[in-house]
Amino acid sequence: MSYKNLCPLCLQKYETKKAQRITEQRLANGIIRVYAERQAIEHLPCPRCGNDSMSDVVTRNAVSRTPENSGAKIFVCDECGMREALEVFDGKTLTLLSWWVIEELFP
Ligand SMILES: [Zn+2]
Repeated sequence: MSYKNLCPLCLQKYETKKAQRITEQRLANGIIRVYAERQAIEHLPCPRCGNDSMSDVVTRNAVSRTPENSGAKIFVCDECGMREALEVFDGKTLTLLSWWVIEELFP
């Protein structure tokens, strides 16, 4: 069934949810971009798991493969890098909205 077949009330709910998801995704992308810039100048927790497990030299960490991260080159800890690789292989990547840094700001 296409969403176009929904009743007006359901269609409105659907459109509202869709708009919310897009807004959340844009906010998340913005946070990720800022976090990626901060990573270059200070030691921060891993943005994905929140553990203080990042190498002091940020480029020694894993580059995130999360596709929706808007092209920002953001580093994650080695364990998260490994998990992402396995998730990509399985086709089940953790959405950016589930990352520690996003949940921390939007509980
Ligand atoms: Zn991590």
